[in-house]
Amino acid sequence: MSENPLKGRTVYFPSMTEAGAMVTAAAFRSVGIEARPMPPSDAETLAMGGRFSSGEECLPLKMTMGDALKLLVSGEIAPEKMAFFMPKSDGPCRFGMYGPYMKMVFAEMGYGDVLFISPTNEDGYAGVGEHGQRLIRTAWRGIVASDLLRKLLFRVRPYETERGGTDVAFDRGVELLSAAVGHPGDGARAKVARITDALRQARSLIHAVPADYSNPRPLIGIVGEIFCRLNKFSNDDVVRKVEETGGECWMSDVSEWVWYTNAAQLQLLGRYRRHFTKENFGARIKWHLQRRDEHAFLSAFEDDFTGYEEAHDIREIMELARPYLPPEGVLGEMMLSVGKAIYLQGKGIDGVLDINPFSCMNGIVAEAIYPRVSRVIDGLPIRVFYFDGSGADRRHELEIFMDLVGEYRERKKVVRRFPKAFRR
Ligand code: SF4
Repeated sequence: MSENPLKGRTVYFPSMTEAGAMVTAAAFRSVGIEARPMPPSDAETLAMGGRFSSGEECLPLKMTMGDALKLLVSGEIAPEKMAFFMPKSDGPCRFGMYGPYMKMVFAEMGYGDVLFISPTNEDGYAGVGEHGQRLIRTAWRGIVASDLLRKLLFRVRPYETERGGTDVAFDRGVELLSAAVGHPGDGARAKVARITDALRQARSLIHAVPADYSNPRPLIGIVGEIFCRLNKFSNDDVVRKVEETGGECWMSDVSEWVWYTNAAQLQLLGRYRRHFTKENFGARIKWHLQRRDEHAFLSAFEDDFTGYEEAHDIREIMELARPYLPPEGVLGEMMLSVGKAIYLQGKGIDGVLDINPFSCMNGIVAEAIYPRVSRVIDGLPIRVFYFDGSGADRRHELEIFMDLVGEYRERKKVVRRFPKAFRR
């Protein structure tokens, strides 16, 4: 057996979401690989990333590279002991160039010994050693579970009557979840049971936060480019800003992208008429197993997400986008954002914000489509926000958007449903 390429190294995960990076690192530790989340992004991240990029690159590149350089320059870890988790893609935009570009910059700065890992099923996850399959499944479980906890955080925080209580409960919940994900030696069933139990405990902590749900707020869907949408520093903590302006948020989560890549894989196999191949069979089994994990974790939340259900199948979202951006020809987030905006309108949402890095083609294309989409779905307010790390004050823009949301809310035809736990 070939030697584990990660032996003697610590794997660092970019903090797209802090909870996601924590649980993914925990998944690696569960199979004996030393792993840690990167410290959260901050002004130094942006300065480092900005110094070694030309300004033409996307904000997520600056942020992830800046986070890694911050660590290396601090001397906290030697390059030959560091592995950097960088998913790769041959998709439709600049993301595929992040890895090669970072490697070039690291080499020029004398950090060429950093190992980049991009687990892929093309090589049976050989890049992460012998436990690849188990590790990837555990990481998926951690990500779905942390998505659900974040959904509950956004559900409760706008209504808390003790400021900061929900964030404290959420952070403790993420610690419990990371401990469950990182527990070594679990078989598949034991792992799902352990994570479900941690989610129950985390849910209790969040529900114990004093809150007043008597006056439901306008509900704002947050869609857009995955990194910018989820990374608080990149989007100037847009969810909190919406909450400060009187709204509540429903954000597209990380697992949406995983479901989309699954669907895109099946779509591609179908296009090349590879219906009865081992690959097609494997993709369907993976889908089924992932769905089963998700159902198990959802059970920990009882009816918390009544009225906030995600689409049963991501292909439902893709079909909703079809009249504007056919999913066979238009790949990625622009199509998902448009489909999700339409889906959310059907759930009774009051407005949609599409969050993007400045110059991201996903936002640019979706922005061109939204006026037509909005006309068809009863005039739902949809606004695209671009971020470039400058920290520009958007309160005024947000207040105007929330005024439109208020008008729409008065006249909308779809009635929202509320779970029992939130009817007080
Ligand atoms: S999705 Fe947008 S921000 Fe992300 S790599 Fe592609 S173009 Fe850049």
